[in-house]
Amino acid sequence: MVIPAERRRKIARAVAKAGAEALLVTHLPDVRYLTGFTGSSAALLVKGSRATLFTDGRYTEQAQHEVDGAKIVITEKPAAVAACELAVEQGVTLCAFDSAQTTVEGLERMKAALPAKQRKNFFVATTALVAGLREIKDEVEQETMRSAAALGCRLFEQVLEEIHPGATEMEVALALEFMARLAGAERMSFETIVAGGSRSALPHGRASSAKLPKRGFVTLDFGVVVNGYCSDMTRTVHLGPARKGEFELYEAVLDAQLAGVAAVKAGISGTEVDAAARKVLEDAGYGEYFTHGTGHGVGLEIHESPRLGKKREGVPETKLKAGMIVTIEPGAYLPGEFGVRIEDTVLVTATGCEILTPTPKAWIEL
Ligand code: ZN
Ligand code: ZN
Repeated sequence: MVIPAERRRKIARAVAKAGAEALLVTHLPDVRYLTGFTGSSAALLVKGSRATLFTDGRYTEQAQHEVDGAKIVITEKPAAVAACELAVEQGVTLCAFDSAQTTVEGLERMKAALPAKQRKNFFVATTALVAGLREIKDEVEQETMRSAAALGCRLFEQVLEEIHPGATEMEVALALEFMARLAGAERMSFETIVAGGSRSALPHGRASSAKLPKRGFVTLDFGVVVNGYCSDMTRTVHLGPARKGEFELYEAVLDAQLAGVAAVKAGISGTEVDAAARKVLEDAGYGEYFTHGTGHGVGLEIHESPRLGKKREGVPETKLKAGMIVTIEPGAYLPGEFGVRIEDTVLVTATGCEILTPTPKAWIEL
């Protein structure tokens, strides 16, 4: 596989541009992205065209199997410590690390691995060198995410049969997860959200022992992992006929979601997409009930950059680029009453986007 090698070449250029001689990667999804290694303990040192992966004895065989083009070192020391020691050995005097993915304690431990006189100026804090590269999905990643999203859509169709009054949220979630694993999902992207009746007003109502009502909304937000890549989709369905205000809220959220999707194209910012969706809910009188951002990047992790939300003071706006994969998921939640969220995952293109989760979004009454 040449993909990790290509990615490492790009990263080496970004490291040089950041003024450093090497990069220490400790965030496991980043390690995976740059080497193919999927183990749960690793660090990677990238210095020019040389890359060295550190892991422990549990992963000797797996590393040999998965890692392409990087040297593998099995160590009993913490992987990041061993990587720091090698960096010094290789003559590195300025080493970049990702400050967004390193704890204060982790940095102290890395520094302690250096000769005393090098501790002060050895590390250069960078953010998002690898995350920035990971924002744009290459063709293999796009294809993987297309199939993960398609599996999610099929599972949604299947799980509709499990949604009936009296079933608990947990039963619905378990049925979904069981079908997902049978269909080849490695795991779920995150804890499945099934929120029925008044619990649909909780934006993150994890499946509980609550029973689904005879009449009311049920929000399902879930994803599956295929070859390491996450899918993410939300649909809100209704048990029985709508009560006063429910259909209106659904239509407003749907219109906002459609406006968000319509706004997506290369060159527009995440803030502008958020504003397009938000305006619809504000105009319909639900602005104050839309309490989160419109979307987020998705890939090896369920939440990646870019974020699509309101402008934040001091945070530069990210412009969407072709090849990014992001979610569009406005919602509105009337406390104590009910809530609606609708979420698609889309691939940004030069002129618009490709919807990876084309499950219909019209009102579904069960
Ligand atoms: Zn979701
Ligand atoms: Zn999401």
